[in-house]
Amino acid sequence: MHTDYRFLAPDNKKQSRSCSCATPQAIGNLTNINHTPELELLFSPKLKHMAVLKILEYPDPRLRKKAAVVEAVDNAIKKLVEDMLETMYQAPGIGLAANQVNVQKRVIVIDISETRDNPLVLINPELITSGQDVKGEEGCLSVPGYFEPVTRKDRVLVKALDEQGSKIELNADGLLAVCIQHENDHLEGKLFVDYLSSLKRSRIRRKIHKTPQGGH
Ligand SMILES: [Zn+2]
Repeated sequence: MHTDYRFLAPDNKKQSRSCSCATPQAIGNLTNINHTPELELLFSPKLKHMAVLKILEYPDPRLRKKAAVVEAVDNAIKKLVEDMLETMYQAPGIGLAANQVNVQKRVIVIDISETRDNPLVLINPELITSGQDVKGEEGCLSVPGYFEPVTRKDRVLVKALDEQGSKIELNADGLLAVCIQHENDHLEGKLFVDYLSSLKRSRIRRKIHKTPQGGH
């Protein structure tokens, strides 16, 4: 499987702009979750009620559905957030939108920390992008195994609710800004492959059809 270490290599100038809601197995080699203390903590007994959800894969038409506004951050939404976090950590990925697990609600989870213990939950996010256009490699848990350059803005102001239903406001740049934009696109039914040429997109679609990946 393709491994992309660029966005973790601090000495590589290209890396800081790379984003992916899929992770290159780079983040701590989390594929081997049973041997990772941090993740054993995450899967401790008190969290056993959490569930790993099935991630839809491109070109599944359900990924194209627009997500609806969350009316109330109730127990069902809190459970969804917990399940999405577990799904993202196990995948492993650095971001996941509810559409990817076939729930059409405006909920995003992100964790770009190397220690995998700093989750960010954005419910009903509203984005204002600014700054420069930057090009970086992106991947997606719904397009497993593919990393392609996408141009995004390098700064974003996001207003949202957190997992408790409290209003939050966040200024992000770099990798986090790119990830927020990537995940927010999912809520609109948009995928990173939409930024690619139709030739490249159909090539990816053909290859995904031929070789099922991702273990889902
Ligand atoms: Zn994605």
